Amino acid sequence: MIPKIELHKIEKCAACGALNTEGLVVCSGFGAFSDALCMHCISEGREVYQQVVNYIADAGRWPDDINEVYQAEVRRQLRLHNKTEEEFKADVDAAIALMDVFIGENIKCSYENYTGGDF
Ligand SMILES: [Zn+2]
Repeated sequence: MIPKIELHKIEKCAACGALNTEGLVVCSGFGAFSDALCMHCISEGREVYQQVVNYIADAGRWPDDINEVYQAEVRRQLRLHNKTEEEFKADVDAAIALMDVFIGENIKCSYENYTGGDF
């Protein structure tokens, strides 16, 4: 038996920004996160752009550090979002730079607050 899926009214699609439309909360194909998407984006398999950026930034630099399967899916996502590879590369580089600052600050804070003892 196929379970019945009930659509919900969502205030805003996280992928395309459509307002007050029917949709579902669905999990991403790129990582362990979920968002409310409209039915059009769900049917296209469209992901939230910034999450694609962040996921790839976690793996490395675009495109050299990314395997061919993910490169193909990212290029499909870029077409859905009307983004160029140059824009995407710049966004991934910016996300990596932001992570470096954030991680660096956390390491610094950890050392400053460390008072000894075992971890
Ligand atoms: Zn949408």
